[in-house]
Amino acid sequence: MRKNIVAGNWKMNCTLPEGKKLASEVIHMVEDEVNNDAEVILIPPFIHLTGIQSLIGSSERIFLGAQNCHQSKSGAYTGEVSAAMLVSCGATYVILGHSERREYFGETDELLSEKVAFTLENNLKPIFCCGERLEVREAGDHEKFVGSQVEKALFGLSEENIKNVVIAYEPVWAIGTGKTASAEQAQEMHAFIRKQIADKYSQAVADGISILYGGSVKPDNAKEIFSQPDVDGGLIGGASLKSRDFTNIVKAFD
Ligand code: 13P
Repeated sequence: MRKNIVAGNWKMNCTLPEGKKLASEVIHMVEDEVNNDAEVILIPPFIHLTGIQSLIGSSERIFLGAQNCHQSKSGAYTGEVSAAMLVSCGATYVILGHSERREYFGETDELLSEKVAFTLENNLKPIFCCGERLEVREAGDHEKFVGSQVEKALFGLSEENIKNVVIAYEPVWAIGTGKTASAEQAQEMHAFIRKQIADKYSQAVADGISILYGGSVKPDNAKEIFSQPDVDGGLIGGASLKSRDFTNIVKAFD
C-alpha cells in the first residue's frame, strides 16, 4: 500500500568530511543490518548533496533529499537554490515548510503552496511539514490548526500530484526538546490528516500517502510510535546525526 520511510534531516550540521563519514556509516549499517523495506532518506545541507549522492550511488533503498528550495525556475535570487538544481544533484525529495523555515524565515502556507506545486512540476517529491505550537495544543485547537496548514498548502493539487507528496507531522513543542508526542497523540493527528485527505480526494489516495512523525524520535521510542496504524515512519533531527542511533531507528520497522 504505502511506503514506510525514515528520513534524516541533518539541518545545519556537519562539515563535508563529517557528513561523508556519517553518510557512509549509515549506508553500510542500513545495507548490512536492516531487515525491512523502509525507504531511507538522507537530507544534508545543500552543499553536501553531490558528495553524499556519490556515496549513495545506485542504492535501491537509500535516497537523497534537500532541506528547502525556491519557488521559481531560475533567476536573480541570490543565495537560493531551484528544484531543477536539486534534481540535477541527485535529490529525489525536498523538505518544505519545516517549522524552523516557517518561524525563522517567515514561510507562510501560501508560499508553501507555491513551493509544493513547483517542486512536483520538477519531479521532486515534497516532504511537507505541518505541526502546531504548544499553546495551540493546550487550547485544544491542534486539529483545526494542522488541518488548515494541510488544506492551504496541499489542496490545490490534483489527485495525481498529491500522490507524490509525503507529509510529516512535527509538533513544534516536540522538536529538539526531548519531549515526544505520545504514540496516541501521533496516531490521532495522523488519522485526522488521512481522513482530511480522504474527504477531499478519496480513501484510496489517502491510503497511499505516507505520513511521517517528527519530534524527538530516538531508538528507544521509535518502535512504539511507528507501530501506530497511521504512522508510516519518521523525520528525524538530532538522532539522524549519529549513525548508530539513526540505523537503529530504521531497524524499528524490523
Ligand atoms: P528532533 O528529532 O531533533 O526533535 O528534530 C525533529 C525535526 O525537526 C526533524 O525535521
